[in-house]
Amino acid sequence: DSKPGIAEHELVALRAQFSGELVLPGADGYTAARGVWNGLIDKKPALIARAAAAADVAVVVRFAQRVQLPLAVRGGGHNVAGNGTVDDGIVLDLGALRDVSVDPVSATVRVAAGALLRDVDQATAPFGLAVPLGVVSATGVGGLTLGGGLGWLTRAYGLTVDNLVSAEIVTAAGNVVWSSHNENPELFWAIRGGGGNFGVVTAFTFQAQRLAPLVFAGNLIYAQPQWRQALRAYEVWTRDIPDELTSILTFMVPPASWDLGDEPRLVIGFVWAGEDITAGERVIASLREVAPPDVEVVEPMPWTQWQSAVDELFPRGARAYWKNLAFDEMDDAVLEVLMRRGAEQNWYGTGFDIHHLGGAFGRVAEKATPFPNRDARFWLNVYGFWPDAADDAARIAFVRGLAADMDAFAAGGQYVNFVGEEAGTDPLALAREAYGPQKLRRLREVKHEFDPDNVFRLNHNIPPR
Ligand code: FAD
Repeated sequence: DSKPGIAEHELVALRAQFSGELVLPGADGYTAARGVWNGLIDKKPALIARAAAAADVAVVVRFAQRVQLPLAVRGGGHNVAGNGTVDDGIVLDLGALRDVSVDPVSATVRVAAGALLRDVDQATAPFGLAVPLGVVSATGVGGLTLGGGLGWLTRAYGLTVDNLVSAEIVTAAGNVVWSSHNENPELFWAIRGGGGNFGVVTAFTFQAQRLAPLVFAGNLIYAQPQWRQALRAYEVWTRDIPDELTSILTFMVPPASWDLGDEPRLVIGFVWAGEDITAGERVIASLREVAPPDVEVVEPMPWTQWQSAVDELFPRGARAYWKNLAFDEMDDAVLEVLMRRGAEQNWYGTGFDIHHLGGAFGRVAEKATPFPNRDARFWLNVYGFWPDAADDAARIAFVRGLAADMDAFAAGGQYVNFVGEEAGTDPLALAREAYGPQKLRRLREVKHEFDPDNVFRLNHNIPPR
């Protein structure tokens, strides 16, 4: 019984080479296997190939071209635009490849293609090491890294890609190549922000950073009457705090478990990554003095605890739509937009984050990676997620409305990992907006060299030159 698009004899040949599991439509587990984090994405692949070994990757990459079906590559499945799946095509699911090995002498960490952030955090913590990753522990290292990787160590140690040492990559031709500063350096440049356009990464090697056994972290929480004061204080405070302090300012309706009612709140979440916790306490005290929060939950805690602290806010299967932009000034005009939109958003789910940048992030030369706008002071991520299809239009409109209001203050660049599904958008236009014309030209050259036929096109696509 041949399945849509794939003849039985092709599947027999594939089974002879592929060591993982092949999940076909109609099979037990197909429905679970086709789901991704974003519940808005409802696609039905012709085949889901769950790799059991790195060698399976090249087999599937070649197979997809043989049977002439589109290929989606899935790591943690968290991509908001739903790039980890495809209708009537092939999903290469890397989710079973989660090995992480730490070399404590060189403080490097080798991470397999489908590892989740928590796999890395749990492996490095016993050595007093951490790789700068994102803030939700179920996110895939693969997609997060290839787009850039913003998180709680961004000011202390830069983006995830700033800590990438090398990658093992299966190209469109099915060859395994290494990339680092010394080997295939243009490819290595391109994968540090250019997404999954250039091949399937089967292993990442990261430089890990030393972290004290406990990090000083937490949330300062403000009710609406304090917002203006908090925002003004935050603007001034962020101008000269040490790099060890990374913070994210969020407007949200807190989850029921926080027991704070259902009014929207402004939350300043932070991590002090320095050895000396009392120095971190002084930095936070200087903000607290000018803008006393009405609630705060701050304490020294294990890194892995903080790295999973907001997991419950982002349930798998929620319907989601995101938008983002960079901006530099937090003047009164910006404050008005933030406060008005923050107050409007009076339901649980949708919220917006402002990542404070600078520090190690800002010291990386603009040309060193494709990631856009190293001069940006702040990155705004407007995220909507909600359970009911009936709310789709209203939630999407809120995200778009806030992004449109902030557009007047945008400083250039898009972070591809915070882009939702935009049906009908010209990929070239999005790529130009994300990277700017010069970087895009360079990315397209690399794409031309490693994937001239655009086999890896189910991503924020960089069309070949
Ligand atoms: P997938 O959907 O599995 O993959 C996404 C795309 O990445 C694929 O289409 C493919 O093109 C590519 N890809 C994945 N693995 C590989 C690989 N091994 N080789 C080649 N290509 C690959 N981002 C941040 O920077 N910081 C955050 O704190 C953060 N928090 C998030 C929290 C939530 C709840 C969610 C949903 C997303 C968050 N993101 C964050 C965004 C996240 O970086 C992207 O959604 C990213 O695409 C997730 O990667 P994934 O492997 O889980 O996704």
